[in-house]
Amino acid sequence: MSDWAPMMKYAIVIPDGCADEPQDALGGKTPLEAARVPAMDAVAAQGQVGRAVNVPAHLPAGSDVATMSLLGYDPAANFTGRAPLEAAAQGLALGADDWAIRCNLVTVIDQQMRDFTAGHISTAEGTELLQDAQRACGAGPWEFHPGVSYRNLLLYRAHGGPAPFSADTRTTPPHDLTDKSVMDDYPRGPGSDLLNDVMNRTVELFADHPVNAARQQQGQLPATNVWLWGIGRKPSLPPFEQLYGKRGSMITAVDLLRGLAVLIGWPRIEVPGATGYTDTDYAAKGAHAVAALAETDLVCVHVEATDEASHEGDAAGKVRALEQIDRHIVEPLHAALRQYGDYRLLVSPDHPTPLRTKTHSHGPVPFAMCGTGIQPDRAATYDEPSAAASTLVFDPGWQLMACFLDAFLGA
Ligand SMILES: [Zn+2]
Repeated sequence: MSDWAPMMKYAIVIPDGCADEPQDALGGKTPLEAARVPAMDAVAAQGQVGRAVNVPAHLPAGSDVATMSLLGYDPAANFTGRAPLEAAAQGLALGADDWAIRCNLVTVIDQQMRDFTAGHISTAEGTELLQDAQRACGAGPWEFHPGVSYRNLLLYRAHGGPAPFSADTRTTPPHDLTDKSVMDDYPRGPGSDLLNDVMNRTVELFADHPVNAARQQQGQLPATNVWLWGIGRKPSLPPFEQLYGKRGSMITAVDLLRGLAVLIGWPRIEVPGATGYTDTDYAAKGAHAVAALAETDLVCVHVEATDEASHEGDAAGKVRALEQIDRHIVEPLHAALRQYGDYRLLVSPDHPTPLRTKTHSHGPVPFAMCGTGIQPDRAATYDEPSAAASTLVFDPGWQLMACFLDAFLGA
């Protein structure tokens, strides 16, 4: 357990998916290098920069695995799938044999994934489609749970019997199939016939659905069907306070991170205007984080905007999001932390999302941390080249948390 000043305050800022490669569109720089981020650079200059590998090679690259690791939990031992985390976020209790499945509304045209968000369909439209899907599937084991926009859940209730799925049931995240054929990526393995049956039923149901007719009239993409993936059972994660002796709170607009917070015992701080997209209210997130420091030991602020810009291949948008995070979240948080005397601040994405591929990838991410007991290294800026030059490497990455909380580097 940390024996540093008991009143030490901690903050973690996660610019989701911000790690990247040099971009021609950015003069050969990465988005982190190209962005004006003086507050993040100050963390690097005052403290240490390094690399962490949050996604083990055998697990899928994504925020679920990577953030579990970034928050100090070994995903190789604890990860059971994405959907159970999101079910926790929605307060959906899972029995021992129940399975949760992510249920995207998507646009598939001629067996090509045209849009994994069905044109960012609205929550109201999505809910109407899923209520009709529930009616079509009847009262059997299936439970549709509408979420936000295209992100929804489907539960399989085992009702005491064994479930037809296993760890060998394979599904593919739709955001990995943008502009590609889906023919080889339908669910496969144990119980996949049931998943494919639900998907096929929605193809028929949505084909002439009034919601889609109205969307197409307005020139918007239709939701052609549900895409099922991220299947899993409830993970058993020990509370963070039990593992690290610190209380924590989470600020995020993304269900996945909300669920992780619930499962590790962190209350969530709701921020009006936080959207989980590039139009989020950065300043409101920063202000709520500063206020929360008074109530807990550690505040974690996750920002999805950088990942969404990456999925869209928008280099300028990714740079803009980084600059907003720097000015409205990292800067005020660092200033507030200094007021507490003893503090530590960590800035790190969960995984890279290269603009070139528009999807999450394996590999190291750069982190910067500073504060009480952390001696400065030679790095002056927070970016991939600085991290590449560092000898401070965490692989597996989940071990960074213990160091951040107990950091006594370079004494
Ligand atoms: Zn992510």
